[in-house]
Amino acid sequence: MAPLSESLIEWYLLNKRDLPWRNTNNPYFIWLSETILQQTRVSQGLAYYYRFTERFPQIEDLANADIDEVLEIWQGLGYYSRGRNLHFTAKFVVDELHGIFPQNFNDLLKLKGVGQYTAAAISSFAYHEDKGVVDGNVIRVISRLYQIGDDIRSPKTRQVIEKIVEDILPSGNSYLFNQAIMELGALVCLPRNPHCARCPMREYCGSFLNNSQSRFPFKSSSKPRKVRFLNYLLLEKDHRFYFSKRISKDIWEGLYEPWLAESEICHPNPDFILEQAKNKHVIGSGGYQLIKWTPPRKHILSHQELWVSVCHIQIDEFGADLPGKWVPIEGLASLPKPIIFSKILNDNANPELPLILNF
Ligand code: SF4
Repeated sequence: MAPLSESLIEWYLLNKRDLPWRNTNNPYFIWLSETILQQTRVSQGLAYYYRFTERFPQIEDLANADIDEVLEIWQGLGYYSRGRNLHFTAKFVVDELHGIFPQNFNDLLKLKGVGQYTAAAISSFAYHEDKGVVDGNVIRVISRLYQIGDDIRSPKTRQVIEKIVEDILPSGNSYLFNQAIMELGALVCLPRNPHCARCPMREYCGSFLNNSQSRFPFKSSSKPRKVRFLNYLLLEKDHRFYFSKRISKDIWEGLYEPWLAESEICHPNPDFILEQAKNKHVIGSGGYQLIKWTPPRKHILSHQELWVSVCHIQIDEFGADLPGKWVPIEGLASLPKPIIFSKILNDNANPELPLILNF
């Protein structure tokens, strides 16, 4: 083994964190962990990993579950397409592949929601295939080690980094090398102020030797986020709340939300949403009682900046026939819904609004 790989693996074996997905070769558990950990910190992902593996200990359990239950467990992690893809792929593996997970990189890539990174991770960690696993941590470490100053948003730069990883992978021990370099990026070679003094790569690291760590990796600025204004009407009647499922190919697909009117501009009071609801006959002729107005609150997604307001009213009569469902108060907690509603409604909780406490 080359000295660089040897030093890295030695360091890893002494310093690695004890994480549950590292103590298994089960591709189902590794797939779950890799899917959960995309765009998610380990400290946050850990609780979700335990929830999923406890509720769905076998892939068959996940395949047979209702999608609403899967999304409810996923709630709070964001990027809900990952949760939907998990469910879809579990069903596919059980129904079409007799419950047997694909066993190599190329076959893993055919699964929905499994891209290059996840396929490489499963094939390396579960089957010890000699495949480089390149995530954000690895990109940072390699770009500093080799002083790669090209934009890491560019696919070309990514290919250069992947090629370097393939070249330095120690055959037969590549799964350990992959774990080690990812762990180094997570614990030592941090985005800001890397701990070079205790890094096993110091003597091989170009940016350390040139004191240029802060120049690598280079990432061009991203496109500005799209700004949207989501005005919600939380309708309550006889202790039931109106929610409908988002079905369009948009954010939060498959999750439930109150009645919505999106607008081009921000509305700082409830007049707009109430006007919209009246025009569309959502409120019956018996009128309404305003319970609570939550002004627009910012919620950031990767490519969108949302301003979400919630106007909570009680009505005596149904208005127009609405396509969603009226959920009793006991059903609200388990309803899969965007986390912003839990946040807004929990923040609103006060002794005058005991119903809200149950969200
Ligand atoms: Fe990162 Fe510093 Fe180690 Fe180089 S020496 S890999 S910059 S932590």
